[in-house]
Amino acid sequence: MPMKILQITSELPQLAQVGGLADMVDGLSRGLVRNGHDVACLLPAYPATLAAHGPANDDLTTRFLLDGESVTLIHKAPSPGDPVVLLAAHPLLSRVPGADGQSAGGDGVYRLGPGDDDRASAIRFALFCRIAVLIAENQCGLNWQPEIIHSHDWPTALVNALLARRQSPVARIFTIHNLGYRGLIDRPTFDQLQLSADFWQPSELEFHGQCALIKAGLIHAHQVTAVSPTYTREMATPEHGQGLDGLIRYLGDKLTGVLNGIDIDRWNPAADPHLPFDYSPTQPFGKTLCKTTLKAWLELDSPDDRPLIGFIGRLVDQKGIDLLIGAAPTLLERGCDLVVLGSGQPDYEHQLRQLAHQYAADMVVHIGFDAALAHQILAAADVLLVPSRFEPCGLVQMYAMRYGTVPVARRTGGLADSISDPADASGGQQTGFLFEGNEPGALIHAVDRALTLYHQREAWEDLRNELMTVDWSWTRPVEAYERIYRRALHQAA
Ligand code: ADP
Repeated sequence: MPMKILQITSELPQLAQVGGLADMVDGLSRGLVRNGHDVACLLPAYPATLAAHGPANDDLTTRFLLDGESVTLIHKAPSPGDPVVLLAAHPLLSRVPGADGQSAGGDGVYRLGPGDDDRASAIRFALFCRIAVLIAENQCGLNWQPEIIHSHDWPTALVNALLARRQSPVARIFTIHNLGYRGLIDRPTFDQLQLSADFWQPSELEFHGQCALIKAGLIHAHQVTAVSPTYTREMATPEHGQGLDGLIRYLGDKLTGVLNGIDIDRWNPAADPHLPFDYSPTQPFGKTLCKTTLKAWLELDSPDDRPLIGFIGRLVDQKGIDLLIGAAPTLLERGCDLVVLGSGQPDYEHQLRQLAHQYAADMVVHIGFDAALAHQILAAADVLLVPSRFEPCGLVQMYAMRYGTVPVARRTGGLADSISDPADASGGQQTGFLFEGNEPGALIHAVDRALTLYHQREAWEDLRNELMTVDWSWTRPVEAYERIYRRALHQAA
């Protein structure tokens, strides 16, 4: 039976993206549309989103009032196979605070400008959740009512509490993408969210003298998911639970871990517009040419049979950048080349730049976000490092495998669920190298194991070709979400 589903999200690809959340909502929604469901995605019309994607000729718009202010819903006309996208424009959501028009600074989603902060962000997303409630209840002239609302992470968690209070018949699903972001705000900010005061208590949103907005999703959704089974178990421990492990344990079988899929059309080395050469498991030679081309472009003039190691990701503590920095000199001395793409904490950016300066012949660091270069590194590299301290799902290791690049990763969260290393107890077919421990030596040891295989050319090529055939599509995760949606519908009835 087709279901009517509203995804409520703070990110979508192309329109507003900071991390993997956008890819998950998009991939899941498109998979659901493929399976015949009626899906819409609701996103705030952020200033930059509105400027670049405001109403076009073939977009419909709907207007309604909230607290006397006009809300405009822009219905982006969908291409075949895409979900409907609804952009919610409102003065608070769609203008950079304290500036006319657009302003540089901020990430455009959680920080709209240089002076923006957590409090202003929470107030904006609370308003967005109130708009979502009106849409969920078909109170804004849309003439479409979802049976299911699926919200994601703290910015949209509140919609679950609001609908529960109104005894709405809509089934509520909430996904945890990263428990590290809890939407913490103080009491004066909470008082500006127009919530009933009794939400301020430990059994509701109060959290050690603050308010944790994510609790609205954990407590009030019918079903909760997290983006991998291992992360789901890890969240229930004090080490990874961010102070919410007790509540996570309390969720019991209301909580399910579902490993994300990836968009196998956009991430396809056989048809990737960013690559100078195509390749596939049966015709892998293009991968070597991609390596030669990138090395020439990066001015790494070592022999081509030297292993090229890549890293792509946000340069923040979570991603284990200290391990990367600590291990880099040894890996370079072992005869590897290293290419790093990312941006984030200034101290990490500075240390990586210094390393690249010191080892200019063998190491390149590119600070910034560069989608094309990310594809080129994934194609060119032999090994991709993912030393994350914790990783709810992680997408980059799946992209790497699809591109025949062997992941060397820390055994945590979605990395543990997507990479199998025969040296661990699970056995099975090898798809990478895993390590434990929090020191650079553990990473170096795992790279050493990978290099041993690298130098056995045939075994390495077999592994590389095998990796490219693993199915990371959304087919299976979408089926899992269909089952969870049905469970939630049953609970809501
Ligand atoms: P997270 O959502 O925690 O940042 P994920 O691995 O789930 O991590 O998703 C991040 C995505 O963004 C990956 O596809 C990664 O390759 C990509 N990415 C991260 N940093 C950069 C960058 N500087 N340039 C290009 N792509 C990047």
